[in-house]
Amino acid sequence: MATAAPTPTTKQPDLSLLKGHIPLIGLTGGIGSGKTAVSDLLAKLGAGIIDTDLIAHQITAPYGSAISPIEKQFGPDFIAADGALNRDKMRSLVFAKPEARKSLEAITHPLIRQETVRQAAHLSKQGAPYLVFVVPLLIESGFWMELIDRLVLVDCPKETQIQRVMQRSNLPREEVERILAAQASREERLKHADVVIENQASLKDLEVEMQNLHQKILQFQKD
Ligand code: ATP
Repeated sequence: MATAAPTPTTKQPDLSLLKGHIPLIGLTGGIGSGKTAVSDLLAKLGAGIIDTDLIAHQITAPYGSAISPIEKQFGPDFIAADGALNRDKMRSLVFAKPEARKSLEAITHPLIRQETVRQAAHLSKQGAPYLVFVVPLLIESGFWMELIDRLVLVDCPKETQIQRVMQRSNLPREEVERILAAQASREERLKHADVVIENQASLKDLEVEMQNLHQKILQFQKD
């Protein structure tokens, strides 16, 4: 008698299994605040970094796992010639239609979560002393707020954010301001942070600050 094929499981992998075994640090901050600069420095010191933005990019790159379901849901116009997500077209759609954003997130969020868990388990197995989850909209997410042990916030004045992003991404000021308006306010983030990194000085200063933060996080583990 043929045995039934196993039913595909829809159960989400569970990051909370790591809780209590290794410190789980959330790293957030507004656009252009310096999250990548901070996580790159912590990675050099041995931290296990899981960058959810990077994962979101990878799954929507050519041959990424989200491409085929996105094409099915939104149509071939949303896939660029190289097989990646047509980001400009999708950005315009989700800004105009909140329900389209929901449909997109219903595809991408479980895939991001799956890869996040895979990387976290891998880094933990490799002996990382703590894990840092880089999540731009962490404060806006109940899931992340509940999971993490400590929240590190990268902060800088709004004008600095605008200037950095205009320069880095070659975007007009209005576009950067529009993105900023859709994110939690600086005040809201500051309310939730356990540690605030003032990223206004030079990258050299940031490096020194990260050495201090690394020691502080290692200390959390012992407390
Ligand atoms: P996003 O949310 O858009 O991904 P982010 O928070 O990860 O941004 P980064 O990419 O780290 O921010 O920084 C934005 C830009 O500002 C980059 O070009 C980075 O090199 C620069 N930058 C970050 N910190 C500093 C600093 N202290 N001094 C000078 N430039 C900086």
